[in-house]
Formats: sequence, C-alpha cells, structure tokens
Amino acid sequence: MNKFFITTPIYYINDIPHIGHTCTTVAADVVARLHRAKGEEVFFLTGTDEHGQKVAETAQKEGLEVKAYCDKISPRFEEAWKKLDISFDFFIRTTDPRHEKVVAEVLQKIYDKGDVYKAKYEGLYCVGCEKFLTESELVDNHCGLHPPEKTVFKSEENWFFKLSKYVPEIIKLIENDKTNYIYPIGKKLEILAKLKSGVKDVSISRENVEWGIPTPWDKSQTVYVWFDALINYYSATQFVEGKKDFWPADLHLLGKEILWFHTVIWQAMLLSAEISLPKKTYTHSFYMIDGQKMSKSLGNVISPQQLVDLFGVEESKYLIVRSFPSENDSDVGINRFKEKYNADLANNLGNLVSRVAKLAEGQKTEEEKIEFDNEFEELINNLKLDEAFELVFNKYVDASNLKLNQTSPWKLEKENPERIAVLNECIKNIRKAAFHLQILMPKVAEKIENCFKNEVKPLSESLFPRIK
Ligand SMILES: [Zn+2]
Repeated sequence: MNKFFITTPIYYINDIPHIGHTCTTVAADVVARLHRAKGEEVFFLTGTDEHGQKVAETAQKEGLEVKAYCDKISPRFEEAWKKLDISFDFFIRTTDPRHEKVVAEVLQKIYDKGDVYKAKYEGLYCVGCEKFLTESELVDNHCGLHPPEKTVFKSEENWFFKLSKYVPEIIKLIENDKTNYIYPIGKKLEILAKLKSGVKDVSISRENVEWGIPTPWDKSQTVYVWFDALINYYSATQFVEGKKDFWPADLHLLGKEILWFHTVIWQAMLLSAEISLPKKTYTHSFYMIDGQKMSKSLGNVISPQQLVDLFGVEESKYLIVRSFPSENDSDVGINRFKEKYNADLANNLGNLVSRVAKLAEGQKTEEEKIEFDNEFEELINNLKLDEAFELVFNKYVDASNLKLNQTSPWKLEKENPERIAVLNECIKNIRKAAFHLQILMPKVAEKIENCFKNEVKPLSESLFPRIK
C-alpha cells in the first residue's frame, strides 16, 4: 500500500489558534483525505512547539510554571482541530520526552560529524520570531513582523552549525527539477537567490534560555528552539508506533514566514545527520483581513471558533479552502465569508440539492462507480485548493442548475421520459459533486449521497440555511 506522510508546522504555543493556523491545517486535512480516499496509508502529523524564551516569558507573565502553561495552551490547538473535524493521526508536543530524546540523538550526530563549533554571536534578535535578524528582515531597525520592543540586541557564545558547508549541495538539489522540493516555484526562486547571495552559519544553542532541551555535549546551553522544533517531523516517525517507514515526509505544509527554516536549515541538518530529505515543501501566503494585516493590536484576528459559530464546521472549512492563500496573500473578512456562504452553499449547492430531491422524489437511481477527476486531483496535490473546488462547482453544480433552467422539467408530467432523463442527469452530477466534496465536507457529502442512493428522498431540512 502506498504511504503518504503529511505535516503542518507545529504551532508556537505563545499564540492561540487563529485563521492563519487554521488554513494550513485545513489544507493538510484536505490533502490527507484525498490520499486516504485513494486507498493510501496516511500519516497526518500536527502539534505544538513549546520551548524557547518567548514561551517562558509568557508563562511568567501569567504566573505559571512553564510546563503548566504549555499544558494549558497546547490542548487549545488540539481541541480546535478536533472541533473542525481535522483528521490528524498524531498530535506532537515538543515537551514530550520521546521527542526530546530524538532531538538529542540527531544533534549528537551533527556534532560527531564535526559540523558544530563554538563562537560568539552578536546582533539584533527578535523575541517574537525567536531568531537573529538579517539585514533584509529589518524595518526601521526592528523585525518587520513584530512590534519594535520585540527586537533586542543580543551577544552570546553559542554553538554554531556549519550551514554554509551544505549550501552548494542544497543549491544542486533545488536546481535539479527531479530533486527540487520547494513549491510553489516563486518560493524556489526566492530561496535560490538567497542561497546564492551568501549564507552564514547559524547558532543552534542558547545560553541563558533554560526552557529548552539541553545541548547533548554541553548541558550549560539549551538547543535553539527552531532546531528542536524542526526535528518533530522526523521524531514522530521514530517514536509513534508503526510509523518508522513513513520517513521521509511526502509533504511539509507551511506559511511563508518559516520558509527559510524549512527549505534550507532543515535540509542542511538532515544532510549532516545523514537522514533522508523530505520530498516536498509547499509554502502558502497569508490572510489579510479586510485589506489589513491580521494582528492582535488591530483586534481583527479571526479564530476558528468564531467561524464555526457563524457557519458550522464543514462550512467554515469550505470558506477557508475557497479563500486559501496559495501563492498570493488572500484578503478575507466576515462579511465576505457570509456572502460566499450564501452564494455558493445556500443558494447554489443547497438549493440545487433540495430542488432536485423534491422534483425527483421516489425516482430510482443507479449505482455508478465515481472516480476523482484527474484535473481536480492535480489541483489538490498542487495546493490550488480554491481552483479545485471551483472546478467541482462549475462542472457538476453550475452545469446542473443550467440544465434545470434550460429544460424546466417541473413543467412536464412526472412520468415524462424527458423529465426523468433531465433529473437523472442532475442526480448524477450532484452525486459526483458530493463524491469530490467528501475530502472537504464529509458529512455534507454523506447527507447528499443518502438523499440520492437507490431512490430519491427529499431532504428533511435545508442543507445550508441562509445567513443574514
Ligand atoms: Zn519577529
């Protein structure tokens, strides 16, 4: 049986789940469900990243022991994904001792290889990103992604990883189409340019940050949170029972702020430790909320719970997928979500299903083997999620509505063969739509299928009530 291993980033526990985390997780869910529906054995991994200075500081502010703080926040992510019916197979926490053990093993391998040395490091550091900032990341002398006070000057003696040693090999991998692992192509070009402009070695440990995994060969320092976090993808396959064969990962899904770590540093670490490389990374863009950057200070953060309360679980996932920020940022907002919900789900799909179910009540239906449309599958595998479901709506839903409006079967007698034929065609199309929707809205798909299986039964209630 084909194996497929897909991951989301592990979310930094300093935050609570918002629509940004949600879109990556929902996208991974859709891809995982497609692979399962195709009969593959899937391992879908998500989790939380719990070490580092920022977490320790936040815990302190809340007056909690750091582990107690993590134990309080981590379940919020897991519960949010369960509420959204995300089909993850394992939820990893980087404070899990089994993960910590693998981190120590991997780093020891890198050390034994001679790829680690001690040096002094000075520079501007963003506590928000938990990293030293490069020239190009500075906006007015502070991190462009976080408020100015998060940027501090730091000078430390750290252990360094010889990242530069692996740059030529990584460039070679990316430039060869067969081994390139960076998608979409724009991101590949961005990384290549950055690699060719010169890369410095990176520190892999921290002094004075106690909340972390001790560096195996020097317990006075802790492993830099990023090195610990990246290893989760590999560590889960090593300690979760029966998952060893799933490494290397087939797909790491990520947001653009963590592109460099996932496409350069992670690969170099694996090359050094002689562990095989993940096959593909896909980096999506960000959500804008009504034309503005989403931020706590603007108070425009949308949470998954807010969407579920307004639209329902599967409907929320539909709205996220239809606005998925694939290659460019995607501008969304609650009002536009409402419009999209009413247009696509209430007025279009929902209305079609109830109309046809009512007109064809009692009509016998035939079993037909449905397979995934090739183009649809390709779009999903290329994370063009909006286009994939646009295709389903065009091909099956809009086509049926058009047919109904052109032929007005309700004007014909119930036994009229022309009426029966038109309705049969619509039923076939609706079932095909439901078949494709099973990887996004499995319960809705099942309701639709039940309505048309063997004999047409009218819906007991509207699939998608209109929202004001
Ligand atoms: Zn930052």
